[in-house]
Amino acid sequence: MQLSANKTKRYVHIQTFGCQMNVNDTDRILQVLAPLDYVMTDDPAQASLILLNTCSVRDRAEQKMMSQLGRLAPLKEHNDELVLGVAGCVAQQEGAELLKKVPYLDLVFGPDHIAELPSLLARVAGSEKRVAETELYKRKGYQFVEAEPLPAVDGHAQKVSEFVTIMKGCDKVCTYCIVPFTRGREVSKPHEMVVREVSRLVEAGAREVTLLGQNVNSYGKDLVESSEARFARVPTFAQLLREVDAVPGLERVRFTTSHPMDAIDDLIACFGELRTLCEYFHLPVQSGSDSILEAMRRFYTVADYRDKIAKLRAQCPDLALSTDIIVGFPGETEADFEDSLKLLAEVAYDSIYAFKYSPRPGTKALALGDTVDEADKERRLDAVLKLQKDISRKKMLGYVGKQVEVLIEGPSTRTSKGQSSVVPLDAKPSFQLMGRTRTNVIVNVPVPLGDFWSKRWVGQLATVVIEEAKANSLFGRFA
Ligand code: SAM
Ligand code: SF4
Repeated sequence: MQLSANKTKRYVHIQTFGCQMNVNDTDRILQVLAPLDYVMTDDPAQASLILLNTCSVRDRAEQKMMSQLGRLAPLKEHNDELVLGVAGCVAQQEGAELLKKVPYLDLVFGPDHIAELPSLLARVAGSEKRVAETELYKRKGYQFVEAEPLPAVDGHAQKVSEFVTIMKGCDKVCTYCIVPFTRGREVSKPHEMVVREVSRLVEAGAREVTLLGQNVNSYGKDLVESSEARFARVPTFAQLLREVDAVPGLERVRFTTSHPMDAIDDLIACFGELRTLCEYFHLPVQSGSDSILEAMRRFYTVADYRDKIAKLRAQCPDLALSTDIIVGFPGETEADFEDSLKLLAEVAYDSIYAFKYSPRPGTKALALGDTVDEADKERRLDAVLKLQKDISRKKMLGYVGKQVEVLIEGPSTRTSKGQSSVVPLDAKPSFQLMGRTRTNVIVNVPVPLGDFWSKRWVGQLATVVIEEAKANSLFGRFA
């Protein structure tokens, strides 16, 4: 396979599993492949490079990847040129072992090696044939891929809402979590680079950015510790938010994720004060029981967490809140679980992400065993989801009749009747645009066909009157 010398277009197919971090890494992969004339395709059969960008936070995500590899294997039989690779956290976790387990796999590379992808492909095309590159960079050696707006695909406009990584890795070692092993130590992106990236994305058409890190509140701490920092100004996360807020043309800023232990007063003060900062905060609690939080090594108590929520709500009464919760952590009793339910009912989050505990290799919690049996985990998960369904329903109904600001992102994937995009000739077609409130709720707005194609609303802040609330989205009309 020839690389940069050959200017003919070639296709890359990427399947992304897991969190926003991986979604953003996929964009960076596309960015480093663009100079090699790779174009994204949805059709794996058309591709000369197929990558699975994987997640290993829970066991099921890993199983999904293995079965997907099995489905893709026959394509290798018909196409000698096809390069099949695994990126992301499973790649990092398994390393060269994955090449042994999957004999038809050509390439395995961890999240730290995205910038080197062109040279990794050259090695696969050369004498090495099968390559694994998964050494984690130490803090000093780590280089961020400075994000560029990706070229618009098929005439679609630039994305209205973009992710910007502000740091990689995690220095917390929650006992259940594999992330510190797959993403390494915390490294903060220099603030000038963050602001440059945001400015470029806005110039290209973005109106909203979500700043990404495993624990954004510790942004800058590693820079302060480094010797160069003695001569440079290193902002805290709250100060970084203020710098991003000042980028001309930017309408909205979000961030994820915060660790409750580090969610401190100068960040709380930003809500209601910074024009662009949306009234939405994802603050993962993980459990409502102090003894489980201690076993998880989360370094806060339920009372500390309640205190943060009270401060946030006092600062910003309209704040929407979401959380992550794990059921069935080793040793979780019925009483511990009831405490989690109690906390969920008390805080009344707008939405939650709930997970059954999944033992992960290398983590401290592995030594505690997997003591809660599957049926109990299942029952507890159902109870959490049922409770939240009622709370979320009430929150969603609260929007009906109100006018809200919606940033229109593009066409909704479904028509107003929930049908696919085929419209009967005799029907009066009505399409939907999709956007989000500042509180991160999806709003669908039916518009006439002409309006849809004119795309004049995309990227606009619209005032929408909410007429109907469904479980996960709102419906309304332009005011
Ligand atoms: N850094 C974020 C934080 O501290 O909240 C979360 C990152 S993690 C990728 C996302 C969520 O996955 C966690 O908040 C946790 O609820 C869940 N998670 C992580 N490890 C898990 C495990 N072993 N089993 C079940 N859920 C897990
Ligand atoms: Fe995992 Fe804890 Fe780090 Fe979040 S803070 S990524 S849960 S170790």
